Amino acid sequence: MRMSIKCVLILQLCNLIPAASAEDVKQTAVYARIKASLNTVSAINTHDHLMPFEKIPNRNRTDRGEGMTLRSIWAGSYFTWIHPLEPWPEDSSFDTWWANAQHNFADARATSFYRYLLPAFRDLYGIDFDTITTEQAHQLNDRIFENYKTDKWLHEVITERANIELMVVDQYWARLDFTTHYPFTVALCNVTSVVRGFHRSEFKDPLDNPYEFARRYGMNVDSLDDYLSVLDRLLSEASRKKAICLKSTLAYNRTLDFKDVPKERAAAVFGKPRKDLTGQQIRDFEDFIMWRLVELSAKHELPFQIHTGQARIQGSNPMLLVDMIAANPKTKFILFHGGFPWVGETGAIAMRHQNVWIDSVWMPTLSYTMAKRAYREWLEAVPSNRIMWGSDTGTAEGIYGATEFTRQCLAEVLAEKVIRSELLDKDALHIGRQIMRENALELFPQLRERLWRKQTE
Ligand SMILES: [Zn+2]
Repeated sequence: MRMSIKCVLILQLCNLIPAASAEDVKQTAVYARIKASLNTVSAINTHDHLMPFEKIPNRNRTDRGEGMTLRSIWAGSYFTWIHPLEPWPEDSSFDTWWANAQHNFADARATSFYRYLLPAFRDLYGIDFDTITTEQAHQLNDRIFENYKTDKWLHEVITERANIELMVVDQYWARLDFTTHYPFTVALCNVTSVVRGFHRSEFKDPLDNPYEFARRYGMNVDSLDDYLSVLDRLLSEASRKKAICLKSTLAYNRTLDFKDVPKERAAAVFGKPRKDLTGQQIRDFEDFIMWRLVELSAKHELPFQIHTGQARIQGSNPMLLVDMIAANPKTKFILFHGGFPWVGETGAIAMRHQNVWIDSVWMPTLSYTMAKRAYREWLEAVPSNRIMWGSDTGTAEGIYGATEFTRQCLAEVLAEKVIRSELLDKDALHIGRQIMRENALELFPQLRERLWRKQTE
């Protein structure tokens, strides 16, 4: 279609007008009502990495002893994934650290990896980190140090301030250990490393070693069939010990393109150390085991959380999983991180395959705007009972920030739809409650027996 220059100019002008007058939905009464409602939902957080209290990392040596500092909070956040953070100084003085560290944030002010922590400083400490003064930073640091003297702070922030009832913890530091360390946490079975179980020399850590697991249960591992029996037993033990799902973070190590490799090819690889194998043989074995795990996931009724998107960028597109998803309709696949940045693709996969759930875990922290876009699109393409959320971090402040960011992001999207008359108010509230809580309870019915809070409805 041809257009006159005048016509093009008018169109451009029209495009400018809404931008110039764009209203912040957060200022509307509809948003305020939906956000307030979401705050009251006792949340089920499907993914986090909270370590046992004594093991929470990044503590610093200070003049008052070792403990958590303002630096510990930032060091344990995603900020360091995109920007260097001043190291803790030799003289162990906060003031020395802050003198340099206060400049670390200048280029990251708009990033979600910076901004997701701001609600924690604002709501838990009454401090606006964007305008923080040296005096306030000093006080904030002192209060963080005091708060982390016992684990009481974690309980208070997570269960009361962030209003989280249950939280699934992925213990990547002890993948095959199903112990929980807090009354509000739930275990899962992280199968990331067992896919490379072609030889016992692959494993060093006893808590991440299927051969060690086999030894404890008196099982021999002399053939591929033996190894498959060990995996079957591993999943039944996980289930018996109340782990609720499987988890893979293979997207950090390799492509998500898992081929349905014939058993003979995997059997030929089994029992050989890495040095005697080609890259192709190792991939064949991993692919074969992944397919078996997907089958075992259905057999043991442990839905499969799979990290997709932002990791090793080449090879983490969730589209690579579609053949495996289509071939295993009885397995419940949970696509983590909404496939970021392939959020539209993830919506299409869930639209096409009813055995797929989308977990928006980490998304508002990665990019608040893309998370909004994702919720908007998914709610249009996918039934609202197949979307979940998680905080994906490891400090009280990080969990609070990620949770608040999620509630805010979701409330913005729902409010926009209500304001545009694309959704009834009551349905918006229902969807918010589903995503924050009900969908996880529906997908993981075992969680019901872990609920500890009296419902106030
Ligand atoms: Zn994670």
